[in-house]
Amino acid sequence: MEFRERYSEFFEQLDSDYFNEKRFVPSVGTTESDYMLVGEAPGANEVEEGEPFVGRAGKELDDILHEIGVKKKDLYITNLVKIRPPENRNPKKDEIEAWSPLLEKEIEEVDPDIIITLGNFPSKYMLETSKGISQIHGRLFTREGQKIMPVYHPAATLYDRSKGPELEKDLRKAFGKENTGQTKLGDL
Ligand code: URA
Repeated sequence: MEFRERYSEFFEQLDSDYFNEKRFVPSVGTTESDYMLVGEAPGANEVEEGEPFVGRAGKELDDILHEIGVKKKDLYITNLVKIRPPENRNPKKDEIEAWSPLLEKEIEEVDPDIIITLGNFPSKYMLETSKGISQIHGRLFTREGQKIMPVYHPAATLYDRSKGPELEKDLRKAFGKENTGQTKLGDL
């Protein structure tokens, strides 16, 4: 079923100030997934392709998922706010308030084993904390019986390359694909 149809109740009550057809990006992936990835909000590339994480940050995420042996098609990928904010500014408090009930409905439907929050905004929202991502990334939390792992946003690794290995390490932990220290034959 099409995303907006599946959540028609939410969309019917959403204040029209918070919706913009030309900036909207629906979630992707299988609702059967054990893993839910939650980003901040879509960017220009995502709006163009109508899919979360397909721009530069998405490419970074794809590379790490490939490296650790996780297939994107097996995940459920969403954003806290599903409208691209103007000039890629941070989502505002009222926008988060308007869109978060939809994320809650998705969590209820997918019922994943673990929710991986990418970067500050979804992590702070889900964990109800003011602590920054650098203080909490890679730690396992529980929220209403569901595991939550905050990790760095893949876009952050583009500005600070040292965060790439941190993101990989945290994602390995979240997916139970921790590095065993074994060398693959191809790496010899
Ligand atoms: N950044 C996000 O937080 N979400 C996307 O979908 C793309 C980039």
